[in-house]
Amino acid sequence: MEAVDLRQIENSLALQVDGRLLEKANRGNVVKSNRASEIGHTCMTFHSLRRLRSDLARPKDLGTLRRFHIGEALERPNLRLLQDAGLEVTESQEPLDWTTGNLSGHMDARIRVQQIYSGAIPLEHKTAAPSTYRMVKRIYDNGADWHELLTHKFTYLRGYPAQLQSYELLYNTPWGCWFFFEKASGEYFFWIVPLDFEYAETLLRRAEAIETNVAKGVIPTPVRCEECAGCDYASTYCFVGKDFGPGFEMLLTAEEIAIWVPRIERYLELKPASDEYEDLAEEIKTAFRGRTALVGNFLLQSKPYKTTTYKVPKEVKAPYAVESEGFRFSIERI
Ligand code: SF4
Repeated sequence: MEAVDLRQIENSLALQVDGRLLEKANRGNVVKSNRASEIGHTCMTFHSLRRLRSDLARPKDLGTLRRFHIGEALERPNLRLLQDAGLEVTESQEPLDWTTGNLSGHMDARIRVQQIYSGAIPLEHKTAAPSTYRMVKRIYDNGADWHELLTHKFTYLRGYPAQLQSYELLYNTPWGCWFFFEKASGEYFFWIVPLDFEYAETLLRRAEAIETNVAKGVIPTPVRCEECAGCDYASTYCFVGKDFGPGFEMLLTAEEIAIWVPRIERYLELKPASDEYEDLAEEIKTAFRGRTALVGNFLLQSKPYKTTTYKVPKEVKAPYAVESEGFRFSIERI
């Protein structure tokens, strides 16, 4: 058989797998309940749209679907690892269905941690990209409260506590537990989270308010908020055709979109890693300033060097002032 035929066959096999991912994603279109994984979303327009106009949700692209698949693919082997390690973990996928607020979800597993509670508590498996993992781990290592996630700049992280707290409240357990797993290095950590009754109650009240809106067919008027960035409905319902006022240049040709959208997406994907790089560089350089040290397999040297600065008084500088133009750059997902 010629190589070219083989290549075609290989491509068609991969296409078949792509097709399966896309088909699976499309199956979930009709939403009949309020998902615990989304109840942390604070926009009531979003919730009404999810229930009443799920057909308008922007379809997930293949890249996103593949990333979601990594989490699913790792969950069962990881739970098995915890069991093999002797932890009292029971796979669950127990449906959560609470008549009040029509809240639904699937708890990944339960874990028994005898030191804190005699019963089994909800266990949520969270697969994270390296940069996300580091961000969450840093919050955990700094001893910060899980509430910090509720205002995190990455709005998808705000949904994690809401999901776990819903399970804790609805299964009546005083604790819940995350198992964070970093998909590149295989590092992991557990984070045990107490039930915050007051916060969990606000989630139920939100779910009830959504039910009232859904029963009346009400979709609240969209109001811009932080969660609009990356929201499924920003470009299909809330801000369709908005040109964002004068001064906006619309790049709309297929060629322009094909060139720039993948580059912008990659830039946004890499940005957290570059922010983390800057933070680490600063931390390490500060800790070892002026020192020569062997740290494990690494030799760190920080040697002094001299530079000359000129402290010129303002009045001397003033006659030489020349105005120049700079640009402040930002990207917002709409
Ligand atoms: S785009 Fe913004 S206003 Fe519209 S549903 Fe999403 S979060 Fe709410």
